This record gives sequence, C-alpha cells and structure tokens, in this order.
Amino acid sequence: MSESDSFTVETDKCLQALNSLALPAKASHFCTLSEFHHIKQALDFAKTNDLNVIPLGAGSNIVLASNLTGLVLSLKLLGITEQKDNRSNNDTVDVTFGAGENWHNAVIYTLKKGWYGLENLSLIPGNTGAAAIQNIGAYGVELADMLVSLKAVDIESGALLNLMNEDCKFGYRDSIFKQSLKDKCIITEITLRLTKTPMVNLDYPALREYFSESTKLPSPMLVSDAVCDIRRSKLPDPKELPNVGSFFKNPIVSAETLGRIHKEHSAPDIDLPQYLQDDGNIKIPAAWLVEYCKLKGFRHGSVGVHKDQALVLVNYNDVEGSDSAREILQLAEEIQRTIKTEFGIDLEVEPRIYGSV
Ligand SMILES: Cc1cc2nc3c(=O)[nH]c(=O)nc-3n(C[C@H](O)[C@H](O)[C@H](O)COP(=O)(O)OP(=O)(O)OC[C@H]3O[C@@H](n4cnc5c(N)ncnc54)[C@H](O)[C@@H]3O)c2cc1C
Repeated sequence: MSESDSFTVETDKCLQALNSLALPAKASHFCTLSEFHHIKQALDFAKTNDLNVIPLGAGSNIVLASNLTGLVLSLKLLGITEQKDNRSNNDTVDVTFGAGENWHNAVIYTLKKGWYGLENLSLIPGNTGAAAIQNIGAYGVELADMLVSLKAVDIESGALLNLMNEDCKFGYRDSIFKQSLKDKCIITEITLRLTKTPMVNLDYPALREYFSESTKLPSPMLVSDAVCDIRRSKLPDPKELPNVGSFFKNPIVSAETLGRIHKEHSAPDIDLPQYLQDDGNIKIPAAWLVEYCKLKGFRHGSVGVHKDQALVLVNYNDVEGSDSAREILQLAEEIQRTIKTEFGIDLEVEPRIYGSV
C-alpha cells in the first residue's frame, strides 16, 4: 500500500497551522483525504464513531472559536483535467479541478495553458472545492460566471451528487452549500468553462486605474499580475499577520434604507459609495461603514482591525495568555453593534464560525 493509499485518523490534532487566523483549536478527530476512496472510509469511520463530518480546505475562511468535536477531513484531492467531451464551442474549454487544488495555482495553470477567465480571481487564498462554497469573487468577477458543474458526496448517504451551475443557487458570497446543503456534502471537484480568446474584464475601478496609461488592452496574464500587485499592496499576508480576508459581507440595502442613511448623515459629512444591483437594491461597502465609525486600526487585546483595511480583522497573537478566538468574536460583535447603532444596518459575518467562546 503506498502512503497516499493509507487512511489514518489522528486524534486531538492541533489546527493552528491549518487556519489562516492561526487560532489554536484542536480537532477531536482528523484525517487527510488524498484519494477519492478515502471519502467512503472516512464517512464509515464517522458513522461508526458517531462523529460530525467537517470538511476543511486551506482554512482561510473559518474562525475556530473552540475545539472541534468531529472528524475534520483535510481535502487533498488533486488533478486538473481538460474535458474532451466539452459540449460548448471551439472557443471554450471545460476544465475539471480536484477540490484540493490550490486556487491561485489553478488560476496560473489555466493562464499558462491559454485558457482565460480566472485572471481577476488571482491570489485568492484557499482551495478550489471551497471556492464554490461562498462563490468567491473579486475585481468584478465571481466563480459562478465560469462554473459549469461540480461533483460532491452526500455525507449522510455517501451518494454521489452532480450539481449544475443553476443547482448551486449562487449569490453574492453565497450558494446552496451555505443554505440547504450546509454541512451536508463534500465537494470533490469543480468544472469551469474558460475561453481560449482573451477577453479581459477591467470594469473594476482599481484595475482600470492600474492600466490607465496603457495604450492597448493588457493580456489576461498581465491582468493577473496587476490583481496580484493590487492585492499584495492592500491585503495583509495571513502568513505574516493572520486573518481571513474580509470579515463582513458588503450589505445590500433598499433605496429606502439608503435614503434614510443619507438623511440621517447629511452631506457633506457623507460620501457613501454605492453599487446598484440588478434587482434595484444597492450594495454599499462594509469597509466604508467601519471606517466612518473610526474603527480602522482599532485594537482589542491581541486582535484588531487592520490599519489599512477596515474589513480585515487580524490576530496579532502577541499578548501572552490571551484568548484570540474570544477577542476576535468580541471585536466582530462590537463592530456589528456600532454599525447597527450608527446606520441601522446588520453586518453579516463572511467566514464560517465553528463553535463558540
Ligand atoms: C487574505 C485573504 C483574502 C481573501 N480574499 C478573498 C476574496 O477576494 N474573495 C473571496 O471570495 N474570498 C476571499 N477570501 C476568503 C477565502 O479565500 C475563500 O473563502 C476561500 O474560498 C476559502 O477556501 P479554503 O480552502 O481556505 O476554505 P476553508 O476555510 O478551509 O473552508 C471554508 C468553508 O468551506 C467548507 N469547505 C471547504 N472545502 C470544502 C469541500 N471540498 N467540500 C465541502 N465543504 C468545504 C468548510 O467546511 C468551511 O465551512 C480571502 C481570505 C484571505 C485570508
């Protein structure tokens, strides 16, 4: 039996190095799944031992508030395959990614192959399987724009599921996997439809500005480089300053609510950016709300709001004996309370919170 063929369960596994907030929670049971047939073994083990199953990708969108009782499955299913039976036209290619592939590496792989569409999503941390959970998005593009279908295993029955794009009920940082299929399946692979003709999307203001002096349209690889540059200049690297990216979703409010906010915070005091949605509602940047309330750079024990990014809560991890998990959740609640009082808006937490403090 080769090493990748073996299936072992560890107990009391420390997850600090496996979550980007570096919270020191432990998993009562833990195993790594590098082969598809490990999934059945893992589900059988969980059933026999009456354990919850908790899939884990790269841990960049989770808050481990306490130890996890259950079987944590670290998904390492790899492989990137071009689908030859692509039913689309010659100008597109369908590509299947194992759920354990690193997302950014997958983006770069496709660009080098001359398959385009993922460039604006460069450098988002995490694995491809988890990308579908919250329909990752950045710089005007979302995973849902490219996803054709995905395969998953039903945790309860072990049945294989094949979901088409419309079955996934994608929304803004949302999908069926955060709703009716929450905790019910393990995504094993996703298939994306990419184009062979470069068609870059520079609608997002920061990207437009980046290329404002170019006389010709940049290549998708240059757009990817630009996205990486912008992200590196704006976002703290979790390896240096543990974080989960945006801690809150951007709220989507009605025109009426926006009118009320403007009335209560009369100009010139307020210059709230707003993005009209297809349904007539308006998306407003949560970062702007947090900054308006002077919480950017605010520190609470060993955690805080990043000094340049009002949406990113960071774990400085520099106060001996501190309980960072408790502090981060207290800070998040304090921010939510402040925004509610100031604007009457409920800020929704983006990462998945496990356990409580
Ligand atoms: C610095 C930084 C920047 C970020 N920027 C962005 C951004 O621009 N846009 C954006 O959308 N997100 C962003 N994120 C959030 C994060 O990168 C994404 O949500 C990413 O998809 C999470 O992937 P992961 O593998 O780390 O998932 P994890 O954190 O491991 O898991 C997240 C959730 O998905 C579930 N899950 C994971 N894999 C599977 C699977 N195969 N099957 C079933 N369930 C699964 C887990 O149980 C968990 O509930 C950022 C995060 C960081 C740290």
